[in-house]
Amino acid sequence: MNKQKLAILGSTGSIGTQVLEVVRQHPDKFEVIALSANGNWELLAKQVNEFTPTVALICEENCFEDLKGAVTRTTELLVGNEHLPSLVSINEVDTVVNSLVGFSGFIPTLEAVKNGKKVALANKESLVVGGELILKELKTSGSSLIPIDSEHSAMLQSLVGEKASFIEKIIITASGGPFREYSLEQMKEVTVEQALKHPNWDMGAKITIDSATMMNKGLEIIEARWLFDLPVEKIEPVIHPQSIIHSIVTFIDGSSKAQLGPPDMKVPIIYALTYPERLPLETPRMDWSTAQELTFIPVDYERFPCVKLAMDVIDEGGTAPAVLNAANEIAVERFLKKEISYIGIPKLVEKCLDKFGTGIDPKIETLLEIDKETRNYATRI
Ligand code: MG
Repeated sequence: MNKQKLAILGSTGSIGTQVLEVVRQHPDKFEVIALSANGNWELLAKQVNEFTPTVALICEENCFEDLKGAVTRTTELLVGNEHLPSLVSINEVDTVVNSLVGFSGFIPTLEAVKNGKKVALANKESLVVGGELILKELKTSGSSLIPIDSEHSAMLQSLVGEKASFIEKIIITASGGPFREYSLEQMKEVTVEQALKHPNWDMGAKITIDSATMMNKGLEIIEARWLFDLPVEKIEPVIHPQSIIHSIVTFIDGSSKAQLGPPDMKVPIIYALTYPERLPLETPRMDWSTAQELTFIPVDYERFPCVKLAMDVIDEGGTAPAVLNAANEIAVERFLKKEISYIGIPKLVEKCLDKFGTGIDPKIETLLEIDKETRNYATRI
């Protein structure tokens, strides 16, 4: 079998480094062709020296000289995020792993799909912002889009061998984050340090805050809506604090299928790369011989208003999800800078939706424009 040739966008982040761990376990199956990082030139240089890709890109200009100095291979080095689309269109690349954070991942996903590449998608914001456009391109380009998100990987694994018409409901599980049991009163006092400590998953800062507000679940509901082309009424979030069941599909005959495992992103990563096949993976296994409990709790939309905001923008459609996403990205940034409080995050998002949230036809220019306008507004208020 030929090796699967990878372009990994965001290779120095939490997902990117775990993708490379999977590659290390199977050097005969995968080959790294392209890597990109935002500003972590030291780690990028190490990765280039280890994997010898054809090309590597650093987005931040002031890191370029340092990167050049540290790379000992003949890899072509590029600088500036305007080169991201060229990375995903390299001829010999089979699979683009998109583990960029936020809106910046959208255009590279769209370009990869247009170029007929398989996309292993960890950047859920791509689908939140431009799900409709990406879906349209998928239908004509011969590309495929496989989720790296653990919940969506669970849905995909549960749906193997099934027909779309068999789906009655998808139950998307959520850990509930660190503030699952907090009262509204307690939530007013939440600090950045508390919000950055997730009980089950070790992830980047943006997604960890999104998990604490549960906006992450909201974004994932929108992601599922596009990945499986389902109306929002068929997607139901539920809190499952142990993060063992990664999601459940209920079928029209009343039967349900779920995918289970210890919380480890390498599992959805390797599945996205090998789907519909599987490869061995060195990772912790569930120990079914010890007593343990799996619990389920309904989502409290009053304490976690972000979930409801996200479900509402699906109904609004068009550009509304892009407004939600941009507002949330700025809100999270401002919370991390301690400019706004934890409970200020949904408030800021709601204000932006009130101003820009009417769904209009999501052409690419419109999406870029509305993203910019929302960011400007969310930064000012
Ligand atoms: Mg997830």
